[in-house]
Amino acid sequence: MSHCAIVGINWGDEGKGRMVDLLTSEYDIVIRCQGGGNAGHTVINEKGKFALHLLPSGIFRDGVVNVLGNGVALDPENLWKEMEDVRAKGVAITPENLKISDRASLLLPWHRQLDELEEMRLADKKYGSTKQGIAPFYSDKYQKKTIMAGELLHPAHLKEHMADLLEWKDLTLTRVYGAQPTTMEQLEAWFADYGEKIKPFICDTGKYLREAVAAGKKVLYEAQLGALRDVDYGIYPYVTSSNTIAAYAPVGAGIPGLAAQKVVGVVKAYSTCVGEGPFVAEWFGEEAEKLRQAGGEYGAKTGRPRRVGPLDIPATRYGVQVQGATDIALTKLDVLSYMDEIPICARYELNGEETDDFVFPVLLQDCRPVIRTMPGWRCDISGARRWEDLPKEAQDYVLYIEKAIGCRITYVSVGAERDAYIER
Ligand code: GDP
Ligand code: MG
Repeated sequence: MSHCAIVGINWGDEGKGRMVDLLTSEYDIVIRCQGGGNAGHTVINEKGKFALHLLPSGIFRDGVVNVLGNGVALDPENLWKEMEDVRAKGVAITPENLKISDRASLLLPWHRQLDELEEMRLADKKYGSTKQGIAPFYSDKYQKKTIMAGELLHPAHLKEHMADLLEWKDLTLTRVYGAQPTTMEQLEAWFADYGEKIKPFICDTGKYLREAVAAGKKVLYEAQLGALRDVDYGIYPYVTSSNTIAAYAPVGAGIPGLAAQKVVGVVKAYSTCVGEGPFVAEWFGEEAEKLRQAGGEYGAKTGRPRRVGPLDIPATRYGVQVQGATDIALTKLDVLSYMDEIPICARYELNGEETDDFVFPVLLQDCRPVIRTMPGWRCDISGARRWEDLPKEAQDYVLYIEKAIGCRITYVSVGAERDAYIER
């Protein structure tokens, strides 16, 4: 069995958490490589129903070690709250099964504050941030103005570093936004509380991982969001502030030389998108509401209704290519069972011409979807566990997508529960 990455092909919320929870049985270590607590991965298994934000989705499997890699935005406050929530449902989280990279930078209270202030300043031109501080955090990281988790283990150094950052950050808070400054007392109190709580989990995960891999352990990289939200390859600027692609996963994980040989790209059987940005195949009104209800398309983190539409082939093919996907997991096929005909956005029309390309971001707003339809199956498929159990119309839909996006669909998911899937 090779090392594997589970990544999103589209705009996120494809069902990655569900696929990680399923596939972890074959792996020893699950690593979150990028992003922060703005994610929402819903996992339903024998321990209950969980909305994970920063914790790796391998946390439910006994014997699996979960790592928060150096590439994540580590928010000690929200992480701790999430750990308490998950523990309350009987899941053990200890330094044995959760390890935090000493090289992960800390998302501090002022990052959330700045996210909010900037969205307010942007008003009707807002980016649709979840206001979890992710963009200010990554900007600071690349300006070399964050604190690494490992600094918590060196208190004298930490205090001096905190004071330097505070002086700098208060200039932005007060002079750019006219907001209240943060005081050293506030910052120290926050570190004394949340910093201390996560301290036992912090270690040199790079060393741990190198040794584990040398000893033959198998690694699963878990990504957040999808290819179309990647800071380099997505619909910039309506993207997240990190790389969501499989190629980045080993870098953010802490084992930069260990590429995933198996890249499972997760695609939903229709399109959804949270927040702002071009979304060519978008539906509105009654049609949209029906699909949203059928799929329960409300954000796990924010409860926001997700924008919905038919499967977007140009976007999905592009997502497959930038992810370098070797296998596809097609999720939520069961949601389409109510439709008489299944619509697909097969191509785009741009300035009177049809194209198969996922065009440059600024041109996407001028694209119109070219829709083709396939016959629906109109029956409950949620009990299907073998390919033969699917009606021919559902098989045809899967095969059409497979051919159009150029990647094998290895898994078809027909329900949110762990075992509700077909492996081809
Ligand atoms: P992620 O962010 O990619 O992990 O995806 P989310 O968890 O945000 O969104 C996927 C949602 O669909 C979750 O509520 C899952 O429980 C649910 N889900 C996943 N796969 C299936 C499926 O095959 N059928 C149905 N009906 N729901 C699914
Ligand atoms: Mg999600």
